[in-house]
Amino acid sequence: MDHTRRSFFKTSALAVSAASLFSSIPLFQVKSQSGKKMKMTYRPYTLELKHVFTVASLSRTTTPVILVEIEYDGIVGYGEASMPPYLGESQESVIAFLKRVDLTKYDNPFDLETILSDIDALAFHNTAAKAAVDIALHDLVGKIVGQPWYNIWGYDKNKAPNTTFTIGIDKADVVKEKTKEAAGFKILKVKMGKDNDKEMIESVRAVTNVPLTADPNQGWKDKFYALDMIHWLKEKGVVYIEQPMAKERYDDHAWLTERSPLPILADESCQRLSDISKVKGAYSGIVIKLMKCTGMREANKMITLARSFDMKIMFGCMTETSCAVSAASHLSPMVDWADLDGMLLIKNDPYRGTTVVDGKLTLNNLPGIGITAK
Ligand code: MG
Repeated sequence: MDHTRRSFFKTSALAVSAASLFSSIPLFQVKSQSGKKMKMTYRPYTLELKHVFTVASLSRTTTPVILVEIEYDGIVGYGEASMPPYLGESQESVIAFLKRVDLTKYDNPFDLETILSDIDALAFHNTAAKAAVDIALHDLVGKIVGQPWYNIWGYDKNKAPNTTFTIGIDKADVVKEKTKEAAGFKILKVKMGKDNDKEMIESVRAVTNVPLTADPNQGWKDKFYALDMIHWLKEKGVVYIEQPMAKERYDDHAWLTERSPLPILADESCQRLSDISKVKGAYSGIVIKLMKCTGMREANKMITLARSFDMKIMFGCMTETSCAVSAASHLSPMVDWADLDGMLLIKNDPYRGTTVVDGKLTLNNLPGIGITAK
């Protein structure tokens, strides 16, 4: 036997013994066969916003959420459903949905595809409620294997982008004040779509020179106005535009995207994986949010699909606690831009997790989604 063959046999023997070693400790199977069950609990919670938050359609000072916990073998995974009014979900509708979710029929929390597909099939909508279960299950599974999700997926947490900080629509002096408070952020998102678009930008520009993004939230009625405004916004240092016009106006958005000097991103027009093929061609990219797309599992698939179409990706959020924002942050190394400031807009965050340091999303080394209860 020559040397090469000998070392081959030596290596294979090692490989075999390593394989048999692993198969002799099917770590999780042992647990799943021991009759332990997942147990889900949930409670309503009201987020108190630091400022009145105004977008094109309405103003508000609170956001209702449901906080979810899934316990298995003494390990607890955390999840959250956040319900801004326009999503059409409420604490009541989320609780009604969660009552229909029976996790005790699954022996293995690692069966994410099966469990989450079954839950998705329970109802047509309820995306925030579904996201709450998805996030809690991911947190649980990450904690069982002792790894953060960016490691499980193989994403480099150091590639997490800067996050925008959102400036809501307001009077000029208030906007200037909010912009001063946002010093330290490397990029700001400006809400528009009411009757003071230029004033909003000029008020922010009176305070800072950082790059801006603009979100009219479907507030622009006319495509020619939109195109003129986008040219003006480019001169003012805006880098992309979210959802300029009503979400069902695909043809007008295609017209706009073809002529726009800035990327146009589909937010309200693109909620789930299946929407990507509908907005492809009409927009330059998509905005992914866990509450729209049912959670981390589908969001990760959306990233892969949008990339395959060469589309830009922004990862956004609602006003949320550090739970849902931290969950989203594990996917952020794979996107172009992030707007993950939800936990910074509230006064009563019950968790600690991903933070923003010098404007950049900064993930910790904790397993799961990386949060701890305060
Ligand atoms: Mg938006």
